[in-house]
Amino acid sequence: MPMFDYHCTACGKAFEALVRSGDTPVCPACQSTALEKCPSRIAPAGKIEAIRMAHRRVAAAQGHFDHYSPSDKAKLLKGKKGI
Ligand SMILES: [Zn+2]
Repeated sequence: MPMFDYHCTACGKAFEALVRSGDTPVCPACQSTALEKCPSRIAPAGKIEAIRMAHRRVAAAQGHFDHYSPSDKAKLLKGKKGI
């Protein structure tokens, strides 16, 4: 699932969103869909794992991991240290 940077043209907020094809992201601040897509920034080395885990937690909260067993889900959310 690609991650994009967006800039809200309604309130000016910049944010990142994971977007499935067909989905329209909305501004987390004002719920506007008047967004500009920006080229994704390159994550600094060392932050990538943290970013990945943050996105996994978001995905889990949204139910994307519901096809995993609870123990597999726990492993996914624990990251490298837990394996
Ligand atoms: Zn906005």
